[in-house]
Amino acid sequence: MARIIIFSGAGISAESGVQTFRDKDGLWEGHDIDEVCNYQTWQRNYDAVHRFYDERRVALGTVAPNDAHRLIADWERRYAVINVTQNIDDLFERAGCRDVIHLHGFLTEMRCYECDRRWDIGYRRHDTTLCPDASEHHTLLKPSVVFFGEQAPLYQRLYTIFEDLADDDLIFVIGTSDAVVPFGHYLRHLPGRKFRVNPDPEYSDVYEREFTSTACAAVAEMDALVRAHMGG
Ligand SMILES: [Zn+2]
Repeated sequence: MARIIIFSGAGISAESGVQTFRDKDGLWEGHDIDEVCNYQTWQRNYDAVHRFYDERRVALGTVAPNDAHRLIADWERRYAVINVTQNIDDLFERAGCRDVIHLHGFLTEMRCYECDRRWDIGYRRHDTTLCPDASEHHTLLKPSVVFFGEQAPLYQRLYTIFEDLADDDLIFVIGTSDAVVPFGHYLRHLPGRKFRVNPDPEYSDVYEREFTSTACAAVAEMDALVRAHMGG
């Protein structure tokens, strides 16, 4: 059975007002990435790290999913969909997606670094200094987000998804450059019909068709393409 495989990045959520990407100065919302998102130094910068993710989380509570998130949720209801994102926001979930693979973690989740317990903290600042496992006295908490230089266990699933791609799969690479995950490189020799949605794409000859607009602007055309291929 044909499937739809989505690989998305910051561009799809930028249209909702989530600015989770590096600007041209290498800063992320005015912060030095190496101070707030570095696995080697995060414990040394503990308070700044938590302040940074607290702010991102509160900001996330003020934005909403957009038409592109909703389109993919709609596909999920109608077809077999694998939804892989580099984004740490929950906009796919709020649009109705049930099974999202967050390669780089999940902003609304906190993690105890000592016992690996994870819990939902919504859009709040982290107001506790303790792991919920009261039998222990764990005080080292980390946002459930993959930092630079940290192992990202879900990449194993990504590679499995690549290995399982089939000729009749529809593959959409949406709102991501090849800077972090070089999708064009991976997909070049893999089966499937490949599409890219990016208003400012780097050159590539991997894709059958390019939508050089934002994902929201491409929603109708993407949906028409999917319906023609998948039926319904
Ligand atoms: Zn713990």
